[in-house]
Amino acid sequence: MKLDHIGIAVHSIEKALRSYQVAMGLEMEAAVNVEEQKVKVAMLPVGESRIELLEATDPTSPICRFLAKRGEGVHHICFKVQDLDRKLAAFRKAGIQILPDADGTGYQGRRIAFLHPRSTHGVLIELVEE
Ligand code: ZN
Repeated sequence: MKLDHIGIAVHSIEKALRSYQVAMGLEMEAAVNVEEQKVKVAMLPVGESRIELLEATDPTSPICRFLAKRGEGVHHICFKVQDLDRKLAAFRKAGIQILPDADGTGYQGRRIAFLHPRSTHGVLIELVEE
């Protein structure tokens, strides 16, 4: 596994870019809507990894719920895996809980899944298939 990105929930990508892009000087790879996850995503590469800014596009978006409960901040970290199904099976076997509605499509149409923070000491972990 490799660290793919760190997801940060923000109220406004436009405002967040003033810090991450303008002030910190990170380049923006892309800003796209991921309909299935009800989020707008801005990707900013940092070394071999990326910062993913997440803005809700719908009140039922998980990002909206997160912001209401905890405010802006780190929402998840994401690991790249070769074979998502095999990895999920191995994690299940090891007692790690997978979020039931987690198998879906993420940024750039890649297959993703989420591990329950209860199983990972409070951190939501996303897995993305390479
Ligand atoms: Zn992510």
